[in-house]
Amino acid sequence: MAKPFASSADTAPKTETLEIVAPGVYALTAEGDPNVGAVEGQNFVVCIEARATPAAARDWLGQLRQHTDKPIRHLVLTHYHAVRVLGASAFNADEIIASDVTKALIEERGKEDWDSEFGRMPRLFKQAEEIPGLTMPTRTFKARHFIDLGGEFGMLELRFCGRGHTAGDIIVWHEKSKTLFAGDLVEAQAALYTGDAFHMDWASTTLDQVKAFGAENLIGGRGAVARGSAAVNAAIEQTREFLNGMIEHVGHAHRSGGTLKQAFEATHAALAPKFGHWPIFEHCLPFNVQRLWDEFDGIDWPRIWTMDRDREVWAQLQD
Ligand SMILES: [Zn+2]
Repeated sequence: MAKPFASSADTAPKTETLEIVAPGVYALTAEGDPNVGAVEGQNFVVCIEARATPAAARDWLGQLRQHTDKPIRHLVLTHYHAVRVLGASAFNADEIIASDVTKALIEERGKEDWDSEFGRMPRLFKQAEEIPGLTMPTRTFKARHFIDLGGEFGMLELRFCGRGHTAGDIIVWHEKSKTLFAGDLVEAQAALYTGDAFHMDWASTTLDQVKAFGAENLIGGRGAVARGSAAVNAAIEQTREFLNGMIEHVGHAHRSGGTLKQAFEATHAALAPKFGHWPIFEHCLPFNVQRLWDEFDGIDWPRIWTMDRDREVWAQLQD
């Protein structure tokens, strides 16, 4: 029997958990659904990630508002993916911050990505008709950007650590509480999505930079909050292991004149025992293998996923 397309059959709601990671530092996790966060300043709040729709964002803000009523001044988007950005209008933030490259990616492929992600993960798009259009960052930067939180609240550092999950991911670092919001560059016991990724950069220098912060709390793109250095480093190294496993098996099939389908089957067989039970593993793997195959073919800039291309690759690999 054919596997249902991507996460289209995943319709059961997840339990959401708001954690106060440190004073004024919040994370909302949801059993492998995309995470969001917030950090309080003296007179304002910085929110991190926007969810897929304004309605989904309001659900999160309703929980956050039980802890702080400060206005939201900054909304930070770690990367361009639709399920992280299209809820932005609900925040009424003074500014929406992302990397230069993320803004360029939204301009280049934001609409296609919206359609693609809606098809892959329909459950996340609560009241999708309220989405006012693409989310455009109003402030961008190349490498680093700082937000002074005021008083004793410390600073937030936004940093581009190299190409990884996309060409433009940034992380958010709160030195005062040693908390790192890593976006989709790190997942905690959730499968990686690498369909727009730069696998070799990500698995080496980019993750090295992420690790060098020496975080004691890490909120990844999906999965539980990692607390303590050991758990943080385990999440980073599991992410690297997943990537290296893909590089090894897709690379071997590519070098030995195999087919994309053989690369997929070998990678699936190698990764499933350890990672197969993690959320979205079956959903992600065909897209991941296709993108990594493209990289081995010398295609540097990721091809744009459209609804049609999604279905084509799925039919070729997962059916
Ligand atoms: Zn993503």
